[in-house]
Amino acid sequence: MNPILTDLPTTIFDVMSGLARELNAVNLGQGFPDDPGPEDVRRKAADAVLNGYNQYPPMMGLPELRQAIAAHYRRFQGTDLDPATEVMVTSGATEALAGALMAIINPGDEVVLFQPMYDAYLPLVRRAGGVPKFVNLNPPSWTMTREALEQAFTPRTRAVLFNNPHNPCGVVYERAQLELLAEFCVKYDAIAICDEVWEHLLFDGRQHVSMINLPGMRERTVKIGSAGKIFSLTGWKVGLVAAAAPVMKGLAKAHQFITFTTPPNLQVAVAHGLMKDDSYFIDMRTGFQRSRDRLSKGLTDIGFKVIPSQGTYFVAIDISGLEINDDVEFSQKLVREFGVATIPISAFYAQDVHRHAVRFCFAKNDATQDKALERLHKAA
Ligand code: PMP
Ligand code: GLN
Repeated sequence: MNPILTDLPTTIFDVMSGLARELNAVNLGQGFPDDPGPEDVRRKAADAVLNGYNQYPPMMGLPELRQAIAAHYRRFQGTDLDPATEVMVTSGATEALAGALMAIINPGDEVVLFQPMYDAYLPLVRRAGGVPKFVNLNPPSWTMTREALEQAFTPRTRAVLFNNPHNPCGVVYERAQLELLAEFCVKYDAIAICDEVWEHLLFDGRQHVSMINLPGMRERTVKIGSAGKIFSLTGWKVGLVAAAAPVMKGLAKAHQFITFTTPPNLQVAVAHGLMKDDSYFIDMRTGFQRSRDRLSKGLTDIGFKVIPSQGTYFVAIDISGLEINDDVEFSQKLVREFGVATIPISAFYAQDVHRHAVRFCFAKNDATQDKALERLHKAA
């Protein structure tokens, strides 16, 4: 038998969470919060299970959730979406990413990717037959340059896959960077697949700018969100997709043959959650900002060089000054010798690998953070 997908690595999240379980380490690697998530949203899901929301829902999602998604994006981002033709529910942002690439990419099409990139992107692009073209985001601000875009875009560019706010860097891109990218998408007639799963997780008063709202982008953007991130319920896997009707038609064709639907009980609960008062979303940000500040200070106090985080659940440290070969060696040492799991950022590169940054998840309660910091003290 021919070997099957032997060229793919095992995802770094499974590797590090596996090690954390095996070694009983504090897991600041894979991003999931200690916070149990809003009780009313969880109760809605439980009630929905008991009250009969258990058979196949409509393929594109329950109408009440699609309406809630449209209302939510109108309220928070000023986007006007027709819930009947421009909104779809998928089984997590991951399914939306896979489906979008299956729908949009034909073998040989070029796809512009930005390094470091979320680890699912490259395998999905390759399996769809896409040819990756990389743009490096330059530390410490992780910005893209016009020159790099000029090299990456060609007449064969079919799509870009862009993540904002950015995992693993914790950057929230401002309008000028997004407009630069939009200019190239329009010029080369490319579709922007925008992974905006962290759209509510931004700090210090920052505002999320969605690519779909930029001039020329309404008809060529696939906007992807994740209820798991919005409600601190990462296992729920409810993806929120928005795109102009002609693009959405293609996305729905892919979705119908991947999962077809998403559990209706979770959809009912997410619809309820998206309609919550502004105060829920403000309080959530305030809470995670406090966690960010607390872990960043703890790491700084120990002597690590923290790269400031503007959003997501993540903050990275720059290890270039430490006596260690690279980030993989460092994170292995931390988990094996000191009992703290982290994520080496080199795992998010395919070429020109940056080997001097390690990512920590700060979305943890004080006790978990303190336990990790106590252990890290001995490592510094
Ligand atoms: N994209 C990015 C950038 C992410 O960080 C994550 C989750 N960590 C996902 C996609 C996956 O989202 P979901 O769990 O909804 O599939
Ligand atoms: N998105 C989460 C992270 O970046 C993990 C997702 C996953 O486990 N695939 O840590």
